[in-house]
Amino acid sequence: MKVLITGGAGFIGSHLAEACLERGDEVYVIDDLSTGSVDNIAFLQKEERYRDRFYVHIDTIFNHETMLTLVGTCDAVFHLAAAVGVRYILENPLESIKINIQGTEKVLELCSKFKKKVLIASTSEVYGKHVHAPLRETDNIVYGPSSKFRWSYAASKLMDEFTALAYYRTNGLQATVVRLFNTIGPRQTGAYGMVVPRFVAQALKNDTLTVYGDGQQTRTFTYVKDVVQAFLALVEHADSFGQVFNIGGVEEITILDLARKIIDLTQSRSEIVLVPYEEAFAADFEDMQRRVPSIEKINRHIGFRPQTNLDDILEHVIDFMKIQPICSL
Ligand code: UDP
Repeated sequence: MKVLITGGAGFIGSHLAEACLERGDEVYVIDDLSTGSVDNIAFLQKEERYRDRFYVHIDTIFNHETMLTLVGTCDAVFHLAAAVGVRYILENPLESIKINIQGTEKVLELCSKFKKKVLIASTSEVYGKHVHAPLRETDNIVYGPSSKFRWSYAASKLMDEFTALAYYRTNGLQATVVRLFNTIGPRQTGAYGMVVPRFVAQALKNDTLTVYGDGQQTRTFTYVKDVVQAFLALVEHADSFGQVFNIGGVEEITILDLARKIIDLTQSRSEIVLVPYEEAFAADFEDMQRRVPSIEKINRHIGFRPQTNLDDILEHVIDFMKIQPICSL
């Protein structure tokens, strides 16, 4: 199969490219390196066995000519190019909305034109302010006011979902939407706010771990390689078109306990400090107190369950970050 991965030099995109190459696909990546990095895929480019079937375009998805050729060439498109990370969204509000809304519209339009399968990466952010668990794909959605810019991310991704579903309804586009819940693993950077690479970097340097708020907010974390396997299964599964699926983990943990666990696993001398949200972010920040997915639907469709537990995922991240230069936080 020929696959196009937008955002293929990003954290998740690079793991997807690796998995596709391993199973024998011809892989095309387009990435403008706004948050991705050539370092994430350089090792794949060096592999002799991938030489004639791995093509990297450092370019924007807004380049119509490039996208026309790439979408026209490939059988399936994984659309991962997006503004990601709470810190990035808050620091780049306009760019984030543009790439998330106009970029996705562009990709969907071309996939519809060429009748190509497409998987759209959405986010658990779309659920908004719920504290009940688990979150189901059919749940209502509650957002904060437009003065609090975090919600622009949720709203823009929700619009992507509507657009994909509308293309499915109107033109029969084979589009699948996935809502990702805190995907983690090697190559994720802490530069855009993600908690696990930040805590691991802090612990490895014996620096203080900065837990925001009271640390009682919870998350579940999913291993990137498990997420990628779910992507590949979904695009092969005709029942998934026109559907939205949660992809997430099952182990709910408070951020304070996560910090403690990372200190234990790294045998660090670090201490933990609670940082008030007003100090960590601008005053208009609002955190999500709890975020736990129901994975019943995706389990029913493709038998998905996370294969890697949190301790093992953290070990992979720690091992990776021990040998990589630790990014600036
Ligand atoms: N967080 C934290 N310290 C950090 C970075 C994040 O305590 O250095 C918290 C953050 O406030 C949130 C959780 O960790 O409650 C997960 O944050 P992340 O940005 O990784 O993902 P998201 O907020 O999108 O779930």
